[in-house]
This record gives sequence, structure tokens and C-alpha cells, in this order.
Amino acid sequence: MMSDCIFCRIARGEIPSKKIYEDEEIFAFHDINPIAPVHFMIVPKLHIASLAEANMSHQMLLGRILAKANDMARSQGLNEGFRTIINTGRIGHQEVYHLHVHILGGPEPLGSMLKRKAP
Ligand code: 5GP
Ligand code: ZN
Repeated sequence: MMSDCIFCRIARGEIPSKKIYEDEEIFAFHDINPIAPVHFMIVPKLHIASLAEANMSHQMLLGRILAKANDMARSQGLNEGFRTIINTGRIGHQEVYHLHVHILGGPEPLGSMLKRKAP
């Protein structure tokens, strides 16, 4: 079924994006509001709202995203590592409800994963 979610529309080319990779099942494009010198997202073409909606029928697709991540990161100059983030649901501060994997990196180390709250 066609979805009018924003990432489905980007996947169909209805909304422009700075695409860095595409195959039959997944695509990747730069985040419009980057929080690191390199910040892109890898997205399944299939509309899965979030990791909370994923199940074993998606294992090949989800594996494909992670298995391709390093090649994509290297294509963007991230030769010394990168961070991979999946935000899920309200607690995970997910904003776009089409599953996506953020890849973040740059020339300098990114710092710790989350800021510790003061005791
Ligand atoms: P989330 O918080 O759901 O994990 O991340 C959603 C991300 O999508 C945000 O980092 C936001 O900047 C990005 N984003 C939202 N709308 C668009 C868009 O139209 N184009 C692109 N390239 N990125 C978008
Ligand atoms: Zn979608």
C-alpha cells in the first residue's frame, strides 16, 4: 500500500533529497538538519513505522541496512568509525515514523553517547 509518510515520499522521489545510495530494498540520504559533520540515514523502502513494529519477517531487510552501513560510511569519508542510532517511539525521541538508521561521524570523535544527568 502506498504511504504518504515523508520518507516514503522521499523514496519515491516526490520530495528531493541528497541521496547517497539506493538499491531495490533500501536507500540512504543526508539528514536535512545534520547534527554532525556527516549525518545521513539508511531507510528501508518498505514502510515500517519504527523498530517497535519490526518482526522476524524483516530480518533480511534490517540485516541488509547494517551490512551496507560501513560501505556507505566510507563513501562519505568515515574511515575511522561512526555512530549508528535508531530512535524508537516517544521515549526514543523518534520524530519520523518510518524506520531509519542514523549514521553520524566526522573528523573528530563524537563524544559520549548521551549526556549523564547531574545526580
Ligand atoms: P528521528 O528523530 O525520527 O530519529 O529523526 C528524523 C530525522 O529526519 C531528523 O534528524 C530530521 O532532521 C530528518 N528529516 C526530517 N524531515 C526530513 C526531510 O524532509 N528530508 C531529510 N533529508 N531529512 C529529514
Ligand atoms: Zn514511510
